[in-house]
Parts: sequence; C-alpha cells; structure tokens
Amino acid sequence: TKFIIVSGGVVSGIGKGVIASSTGLLLKMTGLKVTAIKIDPYMNVDAGTMRPTEHGEVYVLNDGGEVDLDLGNYERYLDVTLSRDNNITTGKIYQQVIERERRGDYLGRTVQIVPHVTNAIQDWIERVSKIPVDETGEEPDVCIVELGGTVGDIESAPFIEAMRQFQFRVGHENFALIHVSLVPDMHGEQKTKPTQTTVHALRGLGLLPDLIACRLIVPQPLAKATKEKISMFCHVASEQVIGVHDVVSVYHVPLLLQAQGIVDFLQRRLNLADVGRTEKML
Ligand code: ADP
Repeated sequence: TKFIIVSGGVVSGIGKGVIASSTGLLLKMTGLKVTAIKIDPYMNVDAGTMRPTEHGEVYVLNDGGEVDLDLGNYERYLDVTLSRDNNITTGKIYQQVIERERRGDYLGRTVQIVPHVTNAIQDWIERVSKIPVDETGEEPDVCIVELGGTVGDIESAPFIEAMRQFQFRVGHENFALIHVSLVPDMHGEQKTKPTQTTVHALRGLGLLPDLIACRLIVPQPLAKATKEKISMFCHVASEQVIGVHDVVSVYHVPLLLQAQGIVDFLQRRLNLADVGRTEKML
C-alpha cells in the first residue's frame, strides 16, 4: 500500500479534508483502489459525545461508528464504505494502549508515548489500510491519511512522531506528504511567511513535504511569483507548490489539483504506474 499523508499548518479548517478527498478521487480515476483514514487528535473516543453546534453534525458510518464529517467527504468522493476504525482519535489509541497495559501485554516495561503509543498508531494505520472498502473486496492500493489539527499542536505531536517513524517503516517510495498551508491575501499581496514558518516547523519534526498545498481564502489563484518564492524559501521544486484558491464548489478542487500536475507528480513519486502494472499482470 502507498500512503499519502495530508497535514496542515497555520490554521484549522483550511480545507485539508477537501484536498485529501480530491487527491484520493484523482488517484481513483487512474484505476487505483483508494481508502482513507482520518486522525482526530482529541481525547474523545469518538464524535458521538461532542456538541454538534461546536463540531458540526456527527457522521454515522455503516457499522454505526459515530465520526467526523470528513469521513462523509471520503465516502462521497471515493465511493467507498468506511468503518469506525477509519477514524482514529487520541481517545481510541490511549484506550487500546491502557487496556493492553492492564491485560499485562507490556508486563515489566514502562509504557510510554514513544514507542508504545506511536507504535499503536502505526499498527492501526497499517491494519486499516488493508481493509477492502468497495464491492470488489480487494485490498486498497493507496491509503490517504488526513491528520487533523495543525502541525506544532501538543495534541497532534504523538501522531506527527508516529508519521515520522512510519516513513521508514513503509519506505520512501510508499510514503508521500502533502502539507496544506495558508497564504493570506493582503489587499492583493499574497504572503508567504506563514507557509515558510509551518514548513520549517514540519521539517524540524522530521517530516519533509512532497507537496505544499497553498490555500488562498480569496477567489484569486496562487500567483507565479508567490509559487516561486515558496519554492525557494521552503526548499521544494516549484512543481511541488500547488495553489488552492476559493472555488464556487468544493467539487472543483479535484480539477484545480489535476491542472497543476498533482497526479503526474504522485505517480512518479510513489511509482504508482508499477502498482497498476502489477495488477494487470495478475
Ligand atoms: P479541514 O479539513 O482543514 O478542517 P475542510 O476540508 O473540512 O477543512 O474545509 C473547511 C471548509 O472550507 C468546508 O466548509 C469546505 O467546504 C470549505 N472549503 C475547503 N476548500 C475550499 C475551496 N477550495 N474553496 C471553497 N471552499 C472550500
């Protein structure tokens, strides 16, 4: 399985979910089977106990799992049926680790965030990425993992560390990272500093962005000069900088990403052509 991690910086509610679903949809259109996992770094075990006025409506999955609305995005964009395990929360991970501790699974050892919690996160992602999500009953080729919250939060730290380790567990050719950042438009001037800061923080935590998706909360697209500046200051090629401005419908986002070569890039970066070919041979 190939893993595409979608992280976010600067502010929440920036459109990570939409970018993650759109990327999944574009890969699905190339003939790959795509699944998705949403990580919510809160202590609630699930969204069932959270106030809808604050958090948005709870989305209920086929197996009764009460989860974040983003899972609804994934089911609609990818035409898949997900289960409660496709939504990971801090609460679920801690509950599992503490139950194991009480059972005596770690007997004699000190149970710690690293490695026990970070291993539990990685094992969970690996296990769920293999679960078939469509009527073919086949294992997915690609798993999109959306990391809720913003990089640098205390809440998301164990997940970021788990992802840092995960890139070595699954190998470079199976792990790509899309970091979604905010580019504020100040009276027509597109500002890159928040993006520089968040990419710097991400690198400091041991994660290197393969794509930087720059969200503009205005209808103007990312300017060529802004793109080049971000490429220069964030140490990525300019093709790795993708602009995502406000569009009239979120269903236009896949086209916006495609026009900027995201599919080609991910196919090369993750050797996705080989995945398709192996399948045709079988
Ligand atoms: P996050 O996952 O970062 O919290 P979401 O993907 O849920 O953010 O998006 C937050 C809100 O912004 C949603 O209401 C979504 O419809 C809207 N949105 C996201 N991307 C765009 C876009 N490119 N243009 C217009 N609205 C968008």
